Amino acid sequence: MPLTATHINYNIVCQRKLWLFSHDVVMEQTSDAVFEGKLIGENSYTQRAERYTEISIQATFQGIELSAKIDFYDARNRIVHEVKKSDVLEQAHIAQIKFYLYILETNGIESPEGILEYPKLRQTLNIPALSPEDKKEIETWILETQNILEQDSCPPIIKKTYCKTCSYHDFCFVGE
Ligand code: SF4
Repeated sequence: MPLTATHINYNIVCQRKLWLFSHDVVMEQTSDAVFEGKLIGENSYTQRAERYTEISIQATFQGIELSAKIDFYDARNRIVHEVKKSDVLEQAHIAQIKFYLYILETNGIESPEGILEYPKLRQTLNIPALSPEDKKEIETWILETQNILEQDSCPPIIKKTYCKTCSYHDFCFVGE
C-alpha cells in the first residue's frame, strides 16, 4: 500500500493512530469534528471547482511508493488548495500539504505552493515552495512513517488533548 498524506498526517498527530489505521483497525467515524470537517470540505467552496481540478499523483522515495489525491489543484498557478475545519492540528495540516508539494515536484512541477484555508477561523495560511530543508524533513517523515507501518506491535498510547476527538479514543481508553 502506498504512503498517503493521511499517513504523514497521522505520523505527526500520533504514531499509534498511524499504526492502527494502517493495520485496518477501523473505528466508526462518529465525532462531530469529523462530520463537520467533511461538510466543510464538501459543501463550503463549490465555486472553486471552476478554477481547481482534482488530481491523483504518485512518486517513489527509496523504494517507498507515495500517492496523493489532491482535491483542489490550480494547475495554471501551481497551487494546492486545502480546506480544514480548524487550526488545532496545524502542524499536521502543513505536513500534509508539504507532502503534496513534494510529490508534485518529484513529478517535474516547478516550485508548487499551497494554501491552507480555515473557513471557521476566517484564516488562510500560505505554504511557500519547498526549501531543500523542507524536502529533507519530508523525506524524514516518509522514512519514519514507513518504519511505523512495518512495526509488528502497536505503539503505546499517548495522552494528548487530541485524544478526545480521535476516532480511536474508545479503543485506547476503554475502562477509563
Ligand atoms: S486516542 Fe490518543 S493515543 Fe489513541 S490513537 Fe488516538 S491520539 Fe493516539
